[in-house]
Amino acid sequence: MSETAVLKNSQYYIDLENEHGAHNYHPLPVVLEKGEGVYVWDVEGKKYYDFLSAYSAVNQGHSHPKILEALVNQASKLALTSRAFHNSSLGEYEKKITTLFGYDKVLPMNSGAEAVETAVKLARKWSYEVKGIAENAAKIIVCENNFHGRTTTIVSFSNDPDASKNYGPFTPGFVKIPYNDLNALEEILKNDSQNIAGFLVEPIQGEAGVYVPDEGYLKSAANLCKNYNVLFIADEVQTGIARTGQLIACYHEDVQPDILVLGKAISGGMYPVSAVLANDEIMHVIQPGQHGSTFGGNPIACAVAVAALQVVADENLSERAEKLGQLFRSEIEKVIAKSDLITKVRGKGLLNAILINDTPESKTAWNLCLALKENGLLAKPTHGNIIRLAPPLVITEEQILECVAIIEKTFLEFKK
Ligand SMILES: *Cc1c(COP(=O)(O)O)cnc(C)c1O
Repeated sequence: MSETAVLKNSQYYIDLENEHGAHNYHPLPVVLEKGEGVYVWDVEGKKYYDFLSAYSAVNQGHSHPKILEALVNQASKLALTSRAFHNSSLGEYEKKITTLFGYDKVLPMNSGAEAVETAVKLARKWSYEVKGIAENAAKIIVCENNFHGRTTTIVSFSNDPDASKNYGPFTPGFVKIPYNDLNALEEILKNDSQNIAGFLVEPIQGEAGVYVPDEGYLKSAANLCKNYNVLFIADEVQTGIARTGQLIACYHEDVQPDILVLGKAISGGMYPVSAVLANDEIMHVIQPGQHGSTFGGNPIACAVAVAALQVVADENLSERAEKLGQLFRSEIEKVIAKSDLITKVRGKGLLNAILINDTPESKTAWNLCLALKENGLLAKPTHGNIIRLAPPLVITEEQILECVAIIEKTFLEFKK
């Protein structure tokens, strides 16, 4: 080896990614190499609070020892069999997750988008075989400003031009209504419910900027769906697994979705695991050979998910998120009183966002995130002038207050 030594600093890794990776993301200029609990460290050794939590996949904190142990144990025993054979992890996981969420059956997948795709297929198939909709006539109602993932079908019903432009032709069969609008939902159900399979909704629109619907919206929407024999499908990929102060956000309104879509934090961020849950009268429509995934329900995923769900219960993460979320928002209200850079804080549990007092096109939110990074806290803007703030749920009260102090200092010192 006679090569000149390369200095492997942040810039080195950023340059590597720029040169060799597709430019489908625009990350903050920070290169992370280690994580533990609520903290991550960059390659220079600087420590940060993680206020993104991998879009709420790391609710249990980075490298949780119990989840890590499950991963290592299972990986050293058996990693993958495909579903051509049974494995000794899958049934235990299926029992745990269906019992926990109160469903007859689970269909295991890997990414959130795959789980949403599965829910769409399941709702369509149910609508033809149980509800009796004429072949290929089924529609699914979705909401404006939704985010459900990145597959061709899912971007077919996105109204974010970045997500959909030039990816057509698109999958038909989706009707868009405004979010948080019960009249629009009722209108469409009244006129066309005989052709409608389901209503797909995020209980809080995360990517749209942590947009929380009015109280009672989910309950009323679920009731409307029930009255019109339309499946209420909740995409809780981001809001689920204790993030908003309940195991799933629908529980805030005592709603049990007909189809529940989970992902992200099912595994505590340790492994891609997603799931679709439903009762037998819906799930039975999918028979052998009609849907699947090579990695879905693999032994590592199952062992990791069992451990990650156990951590949520053992460490009371729902209660923590509820309590610390209220503290966080009330402390941020005090910052708002001192700084005219923030106009509003909103959210539920530890899924929150602050609205920056500038246009969506301005660089202010991005520059504030750079300044937060300098002060030891990582967050990222969503939709221009909104900053999502979502730490791992294992954060302590003391740490939350320290983070509020970082945010306050950053905002008070910030010059546009
Ligand atoms: C992240 C997310 C998805 C997609 O999950 P991937 O694992 O990125 O495919 C779907 N729905 C919601 C609400 C999400 O936040």
